[in-house]
Amino acid sequence: MKPTGIWNADLGRFAAIASHDLKAPIRAVTSFAELLRTLYALHLKGRGLTYLAQIRINGYHMERLVDDLLLYSRAAVASRAFAAVDTATMVQNVLTRLKPDLGDGVTVTLINLPAIQGDAVQLDRLFQNLLSNALKYRKPDPLQIVIRAQAGPGHTWQFDVQDTGQGIEPEYHQRIFQLFARLHPREVDGTGLGLAICQRIVQHHGGDLWVESTPGQGSTFSFTLPRLPQGA
Ligand code: ADP
Repeated sequence: MKPTGIWNADLGRFAAIASHDLKAPIRAVTSFAELLRTLYALHLKGRGLTYLAQIRINGYHMERLVDDLLLYSRAAVASRAFAAVDTATMVQNVLTRLKPDLGDGVTVTLINLPAIQGDAVQLDRLFQNLLSNALKYRKPDPLQIVIRAQAGPGHTWQFDVQDTGQGIEPEYHQRIFQLFARLHPREVDGTGLGLAICQRIVQHHGGDLWVESTPGQGSTFSFTLPRLPQGA
């Protein structure tokens, strides 16, 4: 689903301004909360400690929200020239970073990942968001993740990031790409911006992003990206 209409344009501008202006006061809240904890935690007890913990948890969550909003607002901006990107190496690097979350019982298979044309920083974020979601929304069973590419329509590659995780009910297949859309309770870490950022990145590359999923069986997030120009 493409973001359309004035509401989205306004929201994009709001995201850019708010994320800059909110960063400093939120940082002040988390820094002073840390100072309170370091210097005065011994003087607090019971509810005082609980309230302080709440200020810290919510402050850090707000910092992540603002960082993700900033990523979202920047994802539509052409700040770097497109260049050749080897997606096989890129996905390997992302997996190395995610190693602490991989753990036992996770198998990842890479099939036919090509070199493409794009913004390396954005594409790294795209793969990272999709792979960390596959790891986050897994079932207690062993998890299989397959990342494969095949010829897409026109001069594109279609990538599939497939997992055997919890899956998503059909009525949410569009909604999960909207800003702040979350299907899981607050206790599950996240901002609800990851897929909105992915969608913006793919759109910035002229492609589409969509999901096919069966609850209880798993999800496949698919997207198209431009091929390298002929002879490159
Ligand atoms: P976040 O992960 O921060 O909540 P996202 O925008 O990345 O935000 O995802 C939106 C929602 O879509 C998640 O809250 C989750 O409920 C659902 N979701 C995303 N990826 C998957 C997945 N691979 N399997 C199951 N559910 C998913």
